[in-house]
Amino acid sequence: MIHIEMAQRYRHAVGSADPFYQGLENGVLRATECPECGSTWFPPRRFCDADLSETDWYDLPGTGRIVAATRVHIPPPFGGIEVPYILASIRLDGVAGGITHRVVGNEIPEQGTVVAVTFSNRQPAHPLLRTAFTVKEETA
Ligand SMILES: [Zn+2]
Repeated sequence: MIHIEMAQRYRHAVGSADPFYQGLENGVLRATECPECGSTWFPPRRFCDADLSETDWYDLPGTGRIVAATRVHIPPPFGGIEVPYILASIRLDGVAGGITHRVVGNEIPEQGTVVAVTFSNRQPAHPLLRTAFTVKEETA
């Protein structure tokens, strides 16, 4: 049995997604909206898929509702998350879209549970790992 541990440093140009990453730095999730038809996206898109208009950036309130959730017992390949952890599909408020992301805590939240994004100050492997969601309001 041999144990090998390797670390690599990556540098990615984020290009037109810069406002999204700047938002993460400033504690806000950002989405895009088409100025022509009003369609919205999260994850953000640069161009509208209906009319090819260049989209505009806007800030989301950072809240959403659980669509589905599960407990994960295998650490993610990029590290930085202790197992087990809660992974959920979350429909975000203020946009036609959502995110599959970590929910803080040990209990699996019910469908419809209201959650809010939180940002940590640590510097993880990927900027999105600074974010997690916390349960704000249980379902009735
Ligand atoms: Zn459009």
